[in-house]
Amino acid sequence: MTWPPKYDPAYIPSRDAEHWDARLETMDPAERDGIILEKLRGQVRYAWERSGFYREFWKDAPVDPGHIRSLDEFAELPILTKEEVRVEQEAHPPYGRFLCVAPEQVYRIHGTSGTTGRPTVFGISRGDWERIGEAHARILWAAGVRPADTVMVSAVFSLYVGSWGALVGAERLGATCFPFGAGAPGQTERAVEWAQMVRPAALYATPSYALYLAETAREMGIDPRTGFGFRLMFFSGEPGASVPATRQAIEDAFGCYVVDQGSMAEMTPWMTNGGCRHLERGMHLWQDIVYTQLVHPETHEPVGMGGEGVPVYTHLERESQPMIRYWSGDIARWEMLDCPCGRTYPTLTQGIYGRADDMLIIRGQNVFPSRVEDVLRSLEEFGGEFRLVVERERGYLDRLTVQTEVSAGIWASAAESGPDGLEALRSRVSDTLRRALGVGVSVELKPEGEFERTQFKARRVIDLRQ
Ligand SMILES: [Zn+2]
Repeated sequence: MTWPPKYDPAYIPSRDAEHWDARLETMDPAERDGIILEKLRGQVRYAWERSGFYREFWKDAPVDPGHIRSLDEFAELPILTKEEVRVEQEAHPPYGRFLCVAPEQVYRIHGTSGTTGRPTVFGISRGDWERIGEAHARILWAAGVRPADTVMVSAVFSLYVGSWGALVGAERLGATCFPFGAGAPGQTERAVEWAQMVRPAALYATPSYALYLAETAREMGIDPRTGFGFRLMFFSGEPGASVPATRQAIEDAFGCYVVDQGSMAEMTPWMTNGGCRHLERGMHLWQDIVYTQLVHPETHEPVGMGGEGVPVYTHLERESQPMIRYWSGDIARWEMLDCPCGRTYPTLTQGIYGRADDMLIIRGQNVFPSRVEDVLRSLEEFGGEFRLVVERERGYLDRLTVQTEVSAGIWASAAESGPDGLEALRSRVSDTLRRALGVGVSVELKPEGEFERTQFKARRVIDLRQ
């Protein structure tokens, strides 16, 4: 096997084909493990020979990185964390000693914004960028995008690799690309006008943005179902597309179907966690492009199918800045599903529904913000936005307050009957949340429009602990 693999840039399946590469996507998982092992051996040996970082990081590893013999052996290499990447890049700016090609061979620079620390830099070679396009085209094909479609990308075009990743995949697939962007003042109103005029078949954005787009359209007197004609939307950056009530709200608003995608920016091609057009919830793990293992959050022991754990990702065809056994910090559950698409990949059945460090423990009960979102969005009283405020009580007990908007009509009629009306409403919402979460939380009601609408990743948890 040549490593990294070469792909034919002119290849395109026939329009009716379910799969981009039927052999790779539907093969016996045991046979696929053989392919994964071959690619892993190539990737790990390459990094071992060329990266000063991995040379040092693996020097005491219990296995020989130059000759990995099995997937079990591979799992004995140490896990790499974001913090370790940051420290390395600070010591050896800008890429750290991860870069396995000459700096002048870096074709694109992307990174994380660094809202929670020093930014992380990704150097991507031209060959890698082409393979990212190939992988994303293959996965977008599974999502149901076809060459005759127009794909609107309504996300910021900046360091953030999400929008670029969607664009390069749509380009490789031969679709008509409409890189609209997001985030400038008034741009959502313009998005409504342009989407009405162009009538794209597909939208890439965040789930929050799609809901905001629907709200903006309605304010402008346009019905998002008839005004746009979206057939599908694919999302990354937030768990919402696998949160049933959020997904349903988007599908109902636009009359389209939703596909959930996304691993991490560091792991681009990030679509290798990616649903198909048949999957009602969750994402397939495209294991032969990026290899994923689920491990226990504390012991790092492998988690079997049916279990819950932290995805640990490994590039299989990255020549510039490979991430090997990269700790996501996310929480997911995996299973072998019989999906109507026929793909034999494992599936993250509920998508990425939490962060190991976002998980709130309220009176001994695990509470994920995505679960609260699911409950709120299923309420007819819900006004569209919410915030979660976490505080520490008596030095050790965490206390959660759910601040939720109430839709304008329901707020008005409750307020008519004075403070009692609003109090009755508040206690209804609080009862529903207690039943669903298995633990009592405080609830504060806010009028619709109280919270800022987001055009990017929503930050809904306000942590006042310490
Ligand atoms: Zn499927």
